[in-house]
Amino acid sequence: MTRIAAATVALVDVEVETVRTDAVQSFAKQETVVVEITTDEGLTGTGYSYTIGTGGHSVVELLRHSLLPLLPGQDSREIESLWKLLHAATRATAVGAITSLALAAVDTALWDLRCLRANEPLWRVAGGASRRVPLYDTEHGWLQLPIDELVAGAVAARDNGWGGTKIKVGKPSAVEDAERLRAVREATGPSFDIMIDANQSFTAAEAIRRAETFRDLDLFWFEEPLPADDVSGHVRLADSTTVPIAVGESMYSIAQFRDYLQRGGASIVQPDVARIGGITPWLKVAHMAEAFNVVVAPHFLMELHVNLVAAVPNGRYVEHIPQLRAITTQEMEIVGGHALASETPGLGIAWNRDAMDNRRVV
Ligand SMILES: [Mg+2]
Repeated sequence: MTRIAAATVALVDVEVETVRTDAVQSFAKQETVVVEITTDEGLTGTGYSYTIGTGGHSVVELLRHSLLPLLPGQDSREIESLWKLLHAATRATAVGAITSLALAAVDTALWDLRCLRANEPLWRVAGGASRRVPLYDTEHGWLQLPIDELVAGAVAARDNGWGGTKIKVGKPSAVEDAERLRAVREATGPSFDIMIDANQSFTAAEAIRRAETFRDLDLFWFEEPLPADDVSGHVRLADSTTVPIAVGESMYSIAQFRDYLQRGGASIVQPDVARIGGITPWLKVAHMAEAFNVVVAPHFLMELHVNLVAAVPNGRYVEHIPQLRAITTQEMEIVGGHALASETPGLGIAWNRDAMDNRRVV
C-alpha cells in the first residue's frame, strides 16, 4: 500500500519578481523541476528543485530517462534506500549539479509523501526544533541597486522587526563596496545584522583585503568570498578576519561540507536543499554542522527552507527572497519579523496547479 505507482516530471518556468544581479551573474528565470510521485494507496507527493535560468532541461532528461523509471514498485517510505539506489544509478555523473538537482526533486517528493502519510508538517517530521524562524532580507541588497535603495530596503527590514539584510559586494573597488555598506550601517544602527555576499568573485588575497577594509562595520557574515572549491583560501581568510565566513550554496555533496567544517573554513553553513540533493542530505549537513557548533542559514528557496530551519536546533536564519508567488496560492507566513514554518501536512507549499500548467515548458 505504500508502493510507488507512477513518477512524473515537469519543467515550469517562473519569472523573477525583481532584477537580481550579483558580482558574477543575473537571475534570469527560475526553471522549476517538479516531480510528482503517486503511490498505490492514492497519495501524491510533489517535490521540486530549480535552476536560475539554465540546465533545467538536462535535469528533466536525467530524471525522465535514468531515474524515474527505477521508482515504480519501490516502497516510498524507504527514502534512504531510494536515495542510494538513484545515486548509484547516476554514479557516472555524480558528484555534479545536474545529478544533485535531479535527486532533490525526487527526494523532496518522497518527503512530501512521508509527511502526508503522517498527516504532519515537514518541520515537525524532520525534527521539530522551533516553528518560529528569524528572517533576513536579501531582496533589497542586489549589486545593481543604488545606495539610497539599499538604505531604504534595510531600514524597512529593520522596522519590520527582521534581523538583518544582505548586501551584495564585488564592485570594482573595495572603497565603493565599503561606502555602500557604511551607508546601510549608519542608517540601521548597531543592533541590526548586515551580511555581505561576493558570490565567489574574489581571490583569497582580495577577500582578505576587503574584509580588512570593512573591519569597522561589524558584519554578521561574509558569504561566498571565493570559489567554492578553494577550501584552503577560505581557511586563510577565516584565520585573518573576525567576520564569520558563510558558504554552502554552491556545494553539491555532504563531503564538501565535511571538508570545510573539519578545516575551519566555514563559520556558518548554507546548504541549498535542491543543490545538495534533497531533504535527506540537507538534514545530514545540518546535523554535522551542529556537531561542529556551527549554525545553518540555507540559501534561497525560503518557502521550503523555512520548514527545515525550523526542524533543526542549529537553524539560524531564513533568507527572504520570494520566488513562488506566481505558482502558489499562499505565501510564507511572517509574524513579528519572524517566518513561521507551515503547519499544513506535507512540504507546506500551496501549489497553484493551474498557474503551474500555464507556465509548463516540458
Ligand atoms: Mg549567496
